[in-house]
Amino acid sequence: MAELRTVEIPIAGMDCADCVQLVQHAIAKLPGVQSVDVYLIAEKASMSYDPALLDMTAVRKAVEDVGYSVRESESLQATASPTGDLSQRVLRLLFLVAASVLFVVIAGEWLGLFARITERVPWPLGLIVVLAGGFPVFRNVVRAALKGQIIAHTLMTVGVIAALVIGQWVTAAVIVFFMRVGDYVETFTAGRARRAVKDLTDMAPRTARVLRAGDETEMPVESVQVDDIVVVRPGESIPVDGEVVDGQATIDQAAITGEAMPVEAGPGAPVYAATIIRLGSLRVRTTRAGADSTFGRVIKMVEEAEQNRAEIQRVADKFSSWYLPVVVGVALLTLILRRDPMATVAVLVVACSCSVALATPIAMLASIGAAARHGLMVKGGRYLEVLARADTLLIDKTGTLTLGQPQITDIISPPLVLVQGRVGAPAGSELLYLAASAERYSEHPLAEVARAAARARHLSLAEPQHFEAVPGVGVHAEVDGFAVSVGNRRMLDGVGVRSRDGDGTGPTAEPNPAAGDSQTAGLLPVAAQLEAQGKTLLFVALAGELAGLLAATDTLRPEVPEALAAVRALGIRHVELLTGDHAQAARALAEQIGVSYQADLLPEHKIEIVKRYQALGRVVVMVGDGVNDAPALAQADVGIAIGAARSSVAVEAAHIALMLDDWTLVPEVIRIARRTMGVVKMNLAFTALYNVVGLSLAAFGLLPPVWAAAAQSLPDLGILGNSSRLLRHKRK
Ligand code: ADP
Ligand code: MG
Repeated sequence: MAELRTVEIPIAGMDCADCVQLVQHAIAKLPGVQSVDVYLIAEKASMSYDPALLDMTAVRKAVEDVGYSVRESESLQATASPTGDLSQRVLRLLFLVAASVLFVVIAGEWLGLFARITERVPWPLGLIVVLAGGFPVFRNVVRAALKGQIIAHTLMTVGVIAALVIGQWVTAAVIVFFMRVGDYVETFTAGRARRAVKDLTDMAPRTARVLRAGDETEMPVESVQVDDIVVVRPGESIPVDGEVVDGQATIDQAAITGEAMPVEAGPGAPVYAATIIRLGSLRVRTTRAGADSTFGRVIKMVEEAEQNRAEIQRVADKFSSWYLPVVVGVALLTLILRRDPMATVAVLVVACSCSVALATPIAMLASIGAAARHGLMVKGGRYLEVLARADTLLIDKTGTLTLGQPQITDIISPPLVLVQGRVGAPAGSELLYLAASAERYSEHPLAEVARAAARARHLSLAEPQHFEAVPGVGVHAEVDGFAVSVGNRRMLDGVGVRSRDGDGTGPTAEPNPAAGDSQTAGLLPVAAQLEAQGKTLLFVALAGELAGLLAATDTLRPEVPEALAAVRALGIRHVELLTGDHAQAARALAEQIGVSYQADLLPEHKIEIVKRYQALGRVVVMVGDGVNDAPALAQADVGIAIGAARSSVAVEAAHIALMLDDWTLVPEVIRIARRTMGVVKMNLAFTALYNVVGLSLAAFGLLPPVWAAAAQSLPDLGILGNSSRLLRHKRK
């Protein structure tokens, strides 16, 4: 079995549904091509093929053969984006089209201008006008016909020919005119949808000033390396993700979070690419550059959004494929039964299914683009579609439902035999020193508990050796030669500490006379007490013994109750808390917000639970922070990552990433999804109805060909106007 390769090919020149079909078939026919998808808005093809059978020159040639070209660079072209209010531009376009329609109809039909032109102008001249005006369309139609394909404009072309055959060359010319008007409207519409993405990419910084050997060098952002120090001045946008090493600044993070309120950043603070310094200047140590930065990922995500097509679009595509034969049938019936050639021409001309193909992506991309500007990153229309009918919400606890900045409440630390004698350290510090050093590189919110407590006591941490993080359990590391583990009860089991018979009366597994079982035994009842208070515990084990406890409380995010009430009001019946923490801690929180819970879960248990609900036919949304719950986020029908600006794992795993730590965005994104699906369905219903009514009127001779031609150029504008409501997204 040959190895398949998947590539994306940027294609220039596609601006209608026809083009997509042409390119699609041209590539699909090549030897070795397994599958190919062509995207109108993203202007690219994505294909998987066998490199042994096909090389890229052949693909390029096939694309060129049907009249398009393969673009050299993958990046979006930096075309100047037209300015002006969208609704005004749509209005102007609508006005233009309406004026042409009126002119043609009034001057041509009612005032008899057409009849006079037909009399006075010799028909060969008329033929030239028709052929020249319709050349780009006819070329596509002929190319497709030579390959045995019928495209959307094929029928219109047949209509034009029919009109010419019955001697109505002026009618043919008007049809051609409106065919071009329709194309223009379609190009405009597709361009609008592209803009939604381009507006975002335009915010990406292009150059960075890097400090090397004491000198500032300006370079393209692509050349910046991790650990480079970049210098950013007021008014400039920060070119990379990084950590402030020097300076103080007020930063506008709207590009990432959509939040208009600027934030303060000083040494140690994380900063993100594409955010803008309003006041002050900074030196930033690069942690992630270019496509790796949060903004880079966001761009990639939105650029690829078109690939995650909504199911409903497949329905629309299917509609297009049986619509053409239906039209041909109606045209034939009209010709045979009603013997009305003009009506037949009208039938052929009124039927353009292009708008059906556009109805879904235009609305989806308008929504995705608008949401992105508010810090809600949606990876594709599919997720909006599924989210709109979700009925179950599963929530991770630590870092998701809680602030993820737990406050340490108790440090239980008996004298540590092994590390006694550290000079000048107050009681409890040895334990903290060991625990915080072991947690030094953990990304878990609880790790920060130990680190913050250590900081508060001005302890400088050791460099941990053999660091290992076990998801949902804790960490193991070697600190100053001691094996230190920090985590929950599961961790204790893992390192051989008997933690379950916590009353201290039972026999212990491995008696260790040095530090004494009595210590473990003495700590366990204390642990049970702390747990009963709903506190989250970090057990610290040292060389196979329980050495101490850190207890912390994590507070519920203040906006959660209100957000959950909104979620319920949106019809999500079942809300459940899933946590790796112990049951008492889970219960304390669950009761506060009135949801059910499951505790003591490992990351794989969370996946199982998601699957179980899915097996019951539920549409499951999972909200998490990407720490230990990324697999469950990916498994859910829609995984929503909260506070995603902090975690690239979350952006990667989730289907929707909320850049801010703000729960009110959860009901917000559900509302966006519902509204989007509303617009999509309206678009589809509108175009379907429009086509059916147009077809019927034409078949019964109530719609002259000229009107029919004018009519087919209009639905795109309706769709665009309707969908652009989604661009003007306002937060509730
Ligand atoms: P949640 O499901 O509440 O978000 P996690 O699955 O991230 O929690 O973690 C579950 C439990 O595992 C935590 O409550 C904690 O007891 C333990 N744990 C995980 N990672 C760590 C760590 N780095 N340090 C200490 N404890 C940890
Ligand atoms: Mg978590």
